[in-house]
Amino acid sequence: MTEHPAVGILVYHQVGDFKTMRRHRANYCDRRRFTRQMALLARLGYRVLDLDTALDCLAGAQAAPTRAVVLTFDDGYENFAQQALPVLQDHGFPATVYAISGWLGRRAEWFAAEPGRPIPDLMSAQRLREVHAAGITIGSHTASHTRLHRASRLVLRQELRDSKAALEDILGDEVRHLSYPYNSFDRATVHAAARAGYASATTCLRGLATVADHPLALPRLAISFGDRLLAYWWRLLLGPKAAPALVEWRRHLADEPGHFRPLDADPGYGDPESSQDALPAKERDQGPMPST
Ligand SMILES: [Zn+2]
Repeated sequence: MTEHPAVGILVYHQVGDFKTMRRHRANYCDRRRFTRQMALLARLGYRVLDLDTALDCLAGAQAAPTRAVVLTFDDGYENFAQQALPVLQDHGFPATVYAISGWLGRRAEWFAAEPGRPIPDLMSAQRLREVHAAGITIGSHTASHTRLHRASRLVLRQELRDSKAALEDILGDEVRHLSYPYNSFDRATVHAAARAGYASATTCLRGLATVADHPLALPRLAISFGDRLLAYWWRLLLGPKAAPALVEWRRHLADEPGHFRPLDADPGYGDPESSQDALPAKERDQGPMPST
């Protein structure tokens, strides 16, 4: 157990058999590598936490294990059910899938913007129920996989509240967690997520989640297609240095209500060097991540 919890929230997208690729490598994980990665977590004694437990640890409501990770899967691909879930079940690992409420049972047509890129199937409502019944946490990835940065108040409300309500209707359970498509968010998005009733929201800011983070802007670690076991292990054990954008966002949201730790407390995290180098705290889209 540790007094300074740090949780590696891993983000996966598709798991399966894919041709070697140069682009979007962080969005594909070979199923054999995924199997080895999960076996490694088990062998190294990592505690794989569900998202609610991880939030409790970060909030100090329960003791945090020394080596803690959370597994998250964006977009709700059918290959989660086919390829990833059986491996997770072999180990008894919990995970969170962020589903797009308006795209259930369809294909990920937004991939068509790039000619030649295979367009995968997304889970249907029925499949999502089955996955949920198998113990997987279902979160929202909005209603239409839209960029939330600078969205109007109406669009924010629709994307965040409607997707939550639609998924809750399908599952008969509360949907408490959100992932921002394209890593696109700003302070207004965080406020809207709070108003919509989400307990957490994950980003693609790179770093370990700590008490320095706001629960509605949690960093994650992307696992790339090319990551071999050694690289995977390296990311987990050493933990990456918080990306400058993450340091900036931590400072930016430090005074927001609902923070794990109040502004005046010393969180013991952050990197003064990076802080000085960080870009001005202007709100902006967090960069092009066209298929996340
Ligand atoms: Zn996405």
